[in-house]
Amino acid sequence: LPMTVDTIPRIKVSAAGGSLHGQALISRALRNRVNRVDNDSCSPGGEDPFFVADIGEVYRQHVRWKLNLPRVEPFYAVKCNPDLTVLKLLARLGTGFDCASKKEIDLITSLGVPPSRIIYAHPCKAASFIRYAAQRDVRKMTFDNAEELYKIKRYFPDAELFLRIVTDDSESLCQFSMKYGASLKITGDLLQLAKDLELNVVGVSFHVGSGAVGAKPFVQAVHSARFVFDQAKDLGMNLTTLDIGGGFGVDNFECIAEVLGPAIDKCFPPSVRVIAEPGRYYVASAFTLACHVIARRELPHHGGYMLYLNDGVYGNMNCILFDHQQPTVRVLTHGNRYMYGLPDNCGGPVTASVWGPTCDGIDCITQECQLPYALDVGDWVYFDTFGAYTLSAATGFNGFNDNCEVLYVFSENGSRK
Ligand code: PLP
Repeated sequence: LPMTVDTIPRIKVSAAGGSLHGQALISRALRNRVNRVDNDSCSPGGEDPFFVADIGEVYRQHVRWKLNLPRVEPFYAVKCNPDLTVLKLLARLGTGFDCASKKEIDLITSLGVPPSRIIYAHPCKAASFIRYAAQRDVRKMTFDNAEELYKIKRYFPDAELFLRIVTDDSESLCQFSMKYGASLKITGDLLQLAKDLELNVVGVSFHVGSGAVGAKPFVQAVHSARFVFDQAKDLGMNLTTLDIGGGFGVDNFECIAEVLGPAIDKCFPPSVRVIAEPGRYYVASAFTLACHVIARRELPHHGGYMLYLNDGVYGNMNCILFDHQQPTVRVLTHGNRYMYGLPDNCGGPVTASVWGPTCDGIDCITQECQLPYALDVGDWVYFDTFGAYTLSAATGFNGFNDNCEVLYVFSENGSRK
């Protein structure tokens, strides 16, 4: 399917069936790209790692959101994956955006998104960034401490403020509550201070941690938010918006939504606007990363191999360190055989450790995995569900991997039931 960014919103996406299946399109894109690489003759870096992004999957995640949490307006968290094609699609679909810096604000406004569709969701901002937000009229912003209120009073007294509260994120993959969020013990004082400073508090926000396991922390946080809305009411302040943050996964979304949606409805009347800041949910499943086996070391005394890929923890595998991921190495090609989508977790005849390309010993993708084949130099492997917190934090350390090629496909159907 020919796909340019400009054609995205016009492409019809059917609910089920049809021939433009995600796996088939991804497979074709991977195969075409790796077939172009000849180890004997390609230009330097011709075998660099690359992503295939199925933009249809991002679209379907949006539809899925609308079906399951119709009351909640998503503001996509740009930090999770600032891929321009993804951002353009979401901008055209009308989502809002959660930005955390001047650069992210610039990126989103450069797409023609009005500032009213941006929340500057960072409770501890540089003074110069607050001034910049004022200049760009990005009014929605979060705070969780008194000093931030004084800064905002000085630099952007008309801002629309969300008081970010602490959550129980103890079971989430990534935790934030040790760093951000006001405890319910001080929310009353913060609201009073905001009132004394004549600032405009419009709502409450929270984040239950990225990669939440279930609905419980969301529901608890919704109740805490209700408590703060009531505190504000007692002070004569009328809060209008609840921001339920991010944390939603691809696999557990319906389980969370079916409990969270009714909890919101129970605690907040329809007059309260509800927004969210999903990141991972939108992009994780849409991206597949392909990497080349650039070197191999046989370990005759221990058995098995050390395999060296051209991407690692300083590149797109930074999710191992920052996002607590344990990526599964899957075989894409072995010799002349192409293996995308074939079951390869059978536990193989070969034990391997898999390493990234930089000079650092920490650059290890897995200390030990079972591979069905003894992969060799020139073979390709792939990593699926690789769109969240991967390319957004890749460094250029040692001259590798900070600007990976992304190939786009637009499938009409995914594999999820
Ligand atoms: N909002 C804020 C303030 C965040 O810090 C993050 C992640 O770090 C997100 C939203 C996105 O979270 P997730 O990708 O888990 O949905």
